[in-house]
Amino acid sequence: MEEDWGSPRFVEEQFRRWYARNSGTVPAPIDIAHREFAFLTFHGRTMYRHIRFSTLDELRRYLRANAPAHSYHSSGYYDDPSAEMARKGWRGADLVFDIDADHFDLPCQKEHDRWWCRNCDNQGTGHPPEICECGKAQFETETWLCDRCLQAAKHEAQKLLDILIQDFGVGTDELTTNFSGNRGYHVHVHSDGMIPLGQQARRETVDYIMATGLEAEYQGFSQRNRGARPTLAEGGWRGRTGRALYDYIQEVEPEEVKSMKLSRRATKSIIEDRERVLNTLMERHPSNVTSLIDPKSLQAVLEKAVKLQASEIDTVVTTDIHRLIRLSSTLHGKTGWQVQTIPYGALPDYDPLMRATVITGDPVRLEFRWAPKIKINDVEYGPYEDEEAELPLGAALFFLCKKGARLKR
Ligand SMILES: [Zn+2]
Ligand SMILES: [Zn+2]
Repeated sequence: MEEDWGSPRFVEEQFRRWYARNSGTVPAPIDIAHREFAFLTFHGRTMYRHIRFSTLDELRRYLRANAPAHSYHSSGYYDDPSAEMARKGWRGADLVFDIDADHFDLPCQKEHDRWWCRNCDNQGTGHPPEICECGKAQFETETWLCDRCLQAAKHEAQKLLDILIQDFGVGTDELTTNFSGNRGYHVHVHSDGMIPLGQQARRETVDYIMATGLEAEYQGFSQRNRGARPTLAEGGWRGRTGRALYDYIQEVEPEEVKSMKLSRRATKSIIEDRERVLNTLMERHPSNVTSLIDPKSLQAVLEKAVKLQASEIDTVVTTDIHRLIRLSSTLHGKTGWQVQTIPYGALPDYDPLMRATVITGDPVRLEFRWAPKIKINDVEYGPYEDEEAELPLGAALFFLCKKGARLKR
């Protein structure tokens, strides 16, 4: 009998073996008795949710007994987590952030992501278009990952942590950073000041972090209002705006400056007088830069510059006060990798491609339909197309979970 692509029964068996030995290492989320838990299995698409565990032991027993493909807990705290949604009794929720490389626009996605129209023959690489040539917007997609998109996600996560700590005063012991097990990172903030926030307050927090609607004039870049000029060292977006401008102007290519259609004077200042612009930002009050770059041009430059400092977070996740989010240290059914908590300060050196493959074992022979190349534990695999190969179990599980291959018996 031919196996299905992905060989789900084999993958489940490996998950089961891993949980049998390692469920004791899965930590409890804070205040476990007031959280909702939810799970997906390898069979069917039903989500088992509204589950409550009074103790960590109960949770671990469940993981051992069921070896779920995906494990989640609520960001929210409830009086009765097992009740239906409206009767749960919401007490508050961690502020959670999801950073997913899937939402970025990266050149590497053209190499490892593909899409097909369900309605016509159209297909392509990278993200699917908004609407297909046939007028429909129903696509099959296949999304993979690589070291470049994981790096990009990590960079966004680091910026988010900096903003949370510097601007919101979140303590390093009040936040948890997790590798999501796939293409990104989750940051959970569980400080007393954040837990009661409603949706509107969370939306405003998102706008602040993404610098939505930030205007140069109101960050002190104005010829008027001289008393309120920002310095680069200042806290919040006032200082960050100046630093963003400095970094951007230092690096920007002349072609990009020309393409922005700034005023002639502003274009000339940035391309030919770059040192003077940078010195003005650094050594004098940054607002003096408005004598070299007029306010309208400055706003255009600023919009590009702040993107480099703001963090690309998924707005829907953060504003949802009932969100389910992956449970730390469990396995991710679409990669076979572990969701991992990264201690504060360790993120810069953290590399999921070296750390997250926790299932190991004897090599297995796979039959590939298609898979892009990826480096796992310092070994490069692929690209593969209609071929067989023998891989260490950990790497093999990744290609199986992504459904790019099946077990060759
Ligand atoms: Zn189509
Ligand atoms: Zn990539």
